[in-house]
Parts: sequence; C-alpha cells; structure tokens
Amino acid sequence: LLPDLQDKVALVTGAGSGIGRAAARMLAQQGMKVCLVDLKNERTEMTYQEIMDAGGQSIIADTDVSDAQRVAQAFEQAVKAWGRLDVVFANAGINGVLAPIEDMKEEDWDQTLAVNMKGTFLCVKNAIPHMKERGGSIIVTSSINGSRKFSNFGMSAYSTSKAGQVAFTKMAALELAQYKIRVNAICPGAIQTNIGENTLHTPELDKIKIPVKYPQGSQPLEHAPGQPEQVADLVAFLASEASSHITGTQVFIDGAESLL
Ligand code: NAD
Repeated sequence: LLPDLQDKVALVTGAGSGIGRAAARMLAQQGMKVCLVDLKNERTEMTYQEIMDAGGQSIIADTDVSDAQRVAQAFEQAVKAWGRLDVVFANAGINGVLAPIEDMKEEDWDQTLAVNMKGTFLCVKNAIPHMKERGGSIIVTSSINGSRKFSNFGMSAYSTSKAGQVAFTKMAALELAQYKIRVNAICPGAIQTNIGENTLHTPELDKIKIPVKYPQGSQPLEHAPGQPEQVADLVAFLASEASSHITGTQVFIDGAESLL
C-alpha cells in the first residue's frame, strides 16, 4: 500500500479497458477517489461497478479525449465531486489505422494524433489549474514504439504520437516543476489488452518489404506479453510520494523487449 494516496483524487483516461482499467482499480485500492474517463461504453461501467463493490469511490465521465470541451467538463466533474485533483493518468490511446506512409489517409493520421497526442495535451492543460496550489503527479502512457523499438510496420502515425507524448512530457515537467507537479511517461512493451480490437490494417500494408524479421511481442523476461496489472503497479508508484524525486523521465516497462 502507498498510504499517501489515501483519500486523494485521480482522473484516469481510457479507464474502461486494459492498462487504464487496471490502473483505476489499483489507485482505488490505494484509497483514491477515481474519475473514470473513457468513450461511453459498457466496460467503463464494469470498472465503475467493480470499484464501488470493493468499497471504493468512483464516477464516470464519458469523454472523447480529443474533444477539448468534453475534457474540460470531465475535469470539472471530478473536482466538483471531490474538491481537489492530485493524480492524472493520461492513458487513453489508439493504434488507429495501420498503413504504409504512401497510402495513409490524412484523416487517419489526424485521428491517431488527435487521440494520443492532443488528448494528452488537453489532459495536462486541464490538470494545471487544479494542481497548481498543492502539486500533483501526471503520468502519460507512451510506448516503447515512441523511442526504442519500431517493429510494427504501418505504425508511423502511432509511433510519431508516442514520441510526441515523451517530448511533451519533458516540456511539461520542466514548466510545471515550479508548482511541484511531476510529469512522467511510461513506455510499455506489448501488454495483453483490447487495443487490437479497433486496430485497422489497410490491404496495402502487405506491400511493405520487411527488411529484417523482427520478433513480434516477444519479451526476454517472460516470453509473453505483460499484464495490465504489472503496468498498474508502476502507475501507482509514479502517482505516489514514493517517486517524489522523479519527474520528466520515461520509464520502460517491457520485459526488455525494447532491447531486442
Ligand atoms: P485498450 O484498447 O484495452 O484500452 C484503451 C481505452 O482507451 C479503451 O477503453 C478505449 O475506449 C479508450 N479510448 C480510445 N479512444 C479514446 C478517446 N478518444 N477518448 C477516450 N477514451 C478513448 O488499450 P490499452 O492497451 O490499455 O491502451 C492504453 C494505452 O497504452 C494507449 O495509450 C496505448 O497506446 C498504450 N500502449 C499499449 C500497449 C499494448 O501493448 N497494449 C503497448 C504500449 C503502449
């Protein structure tokens, strides 16, 4: 347990599934009140029910993180409910449409960057007014695809968005240090979640000549993808005072996948 998190308030995006869901449950287990932000869906309601059934406190804010107005409303909803905001996990993300660059449609490129990169910017922007006085911790979900390993072809938009999130995290950490707001990025390798469900591959993807046969999703430590709960442990650590001197950095959580 991380006792300093008790009774504090967290906002988690992408809280209905995968990493966000595991993190929301973990933060609630630490005694945090958790605002669940996601597109309207049943999984988010399940996360909510599970937290409430376990004696936790939670609310849902149906939100598209790329919609500036809705993001602002979600933050207001959380602060109105509990009077403060201490932790933001800017985690919602999509793989989007995977296609060779030559064939990638402008709207598909824009959509991936809007959710992953602009969504992160909007969350950090809206967190600042609520965290300025007391400080806080913001955690951004990037990926090893943003900086260390680019094994999946067709992911130029995704990788760009994930690299952008790391650059943005560093700038935000520098800018917000004066308010004792820490900002860190986590970079997972392959994690077993539902992210594949809405990933679209264009037929042109098969045209790309793969120069090297890269191992897909293999991780030296466990020879299997990681579990969302393993990522949630890292999120709780970065949320808490246990990481009080850590800001502006990226933490890889990938079983050494990025070193292959
Ligand atoms: P997931 O699909 O299981 O969960 C993502 C959640 O985000 C879903 O509930 C989805 O509804 C929500 N979401 C999608 N678009 C949204 C939007 N516009 N507004 C609000 N919510 C939205 O996937 P996951 O693997 O848990 O992904 C979480 C994060 O982890 C993403 O940023 C992803 O890029 C990153 N990541 C995942 C892996 C992996 O292997 N699963 C690896 C590295 C990084």
